[in-house]
Amino acid sequence: MHKESQMMSFGYTPEWSEGSVKPPIFQTSTFVFKTAEEGKRFFEVAYGKSELNAKEEIGLIYSRINNPNMQILEERLAVLEDSESAAAFESGMSAISTTMLSYLKPGDILIYGNPVYGGTHHFITHFLKDIGVKILPFSSKTKAKEIITKLETSEYSGNVKMIYFESPANPTNSLFDLDELKKLKDEISVKSSNEIMLVMDNTYLGPLWQKPLDFGVDIVCYSATKFLNGHSDVIAGCAMGSEQVIRPIKTLRTFLGSMIAPYTAWLLTRSLETLHLRMAKQGENAEKVVNYLISHKSVKTVSFPGIETMGKKQNKIFKRQCLGSGAMISFEVFGGEKEAFKFLNNLKLIKLAVSLGSNESLAQHPHSMTHADVPDDIKEKIGINQGLIRLSVGIENAEDIISDLNNAFKEI
Ligand SMILES: *Cc1c(COP(=O)(O)O)cnc(C)c1O
Repeated sequence: MHKESQMMSFGYTPEWSEGSVKPPIFQTSTFVFKTAEEGKRFFEVAYGKSELNAKEEIGLIYSRINNPNMQILEERLAVLEDSESAAAFESGMSAISTTMLSYLKPGDILIYGNPVYGGTHHFITHFLKDIGVKILPFSSKTKAKEIITKLETSEYSGNVKMIYFESPANPTNSLFDLDELKKLKDEISVKSSNEIMLVMDNTYLGPLWQKPLDFGVDIVCYSATKFLNGHSDVIAGCAMGSEQVIRPIKTLRTFLGSMIAPYTAWLLTRSLETLHLRMAKQGENAEKVVNYLISHKSVKTVSFPGIETMGKKQNKIFKRQCLGSGAMISFEVFGGEKEAFKFLNNLKLIKLAVSLGSNESLAQHPHSMTHADVPDDIKEKIGINQGLIRLSVGIENAEDIISDLNNAFKEI
């Protein structure tokens, strides 16, 4: 069955809940055991003292460990990503931080892509660095050789445990070459004979337009707040991968308490029913908007995966590893902050707000907003200029989006 069909009912049987077509909200903190023996058995499994037998089902204990809404959601997320397992969280940041903390200890090395989401960048460069994780940044232009050379210096003694990145990068839309990163991971792990997790934030193009697990990525993380939920009314996150790599993440989640709540899981499950419709429409609208922007006299550059101006190398990567361009456009207006602000202040349909992937169109100024924390010299190096605007295209009528942009351009 196709994924969009499976989103209607996968992982739920109406007989469980009085024939209710949709799963109810299991707004409960705890679950009754049939017998004391059953309770004992559930705890043995939950604490990893014993494995489930082939015929056994995992029992419900307490909603920090599991809850039917979380479980139904996770099963559908795994379908969407073609993964063996999925873990749902109360935010994208908790999915990312719990994943990192599951695999990184003080003294370990984290190689991370630049740019990454502002919150992720802060967590890496402040928290992880402060607890003694050694951090090594790279960009889509860094050669694997440069990274290997750096790892040979005394500053980076220790074991590389994770390579973490986003593709396309936010907000520049530059793609990272998944084949190259897989090669880099293999090369370092052979040298150091230690296991390395290749982790990718797939929020921008997943799960429809990019399948990183097919390219040897071990774990994908999401801010489910964005396309997956798509209605700007929920904060949530998830991580997907094999049963083996997700298990330690779920265990740590139990003790950090960063699991998704029943109502949030229910809302997100509801959103997944329209994911394919929403993303398809957003993608169509984005192409129309890009075509409009490319020819506009106030626009200096447009960044959008797959368009000619991204360059030959980028487009080769695009053809190999992306199934669509997405709905996130970055463009630079002539001038700087003043012109960008004038433009943003005159949008009417498109809301001036951070976040992305939702059914309504949103625009923001990365230099002063989402990426305010990134040092100016790095911003300049990676192309986050004063005139740059990031646009997330929604499901409105494309003509209305374009006419809103057109009116705002007139004000510059
Ligand atoms: C929003 C976002 C996050 C953080 O997710 P929250 O749900 O806000 O915690 C992480 N990565 C990317 C790419 C994002 O856009």
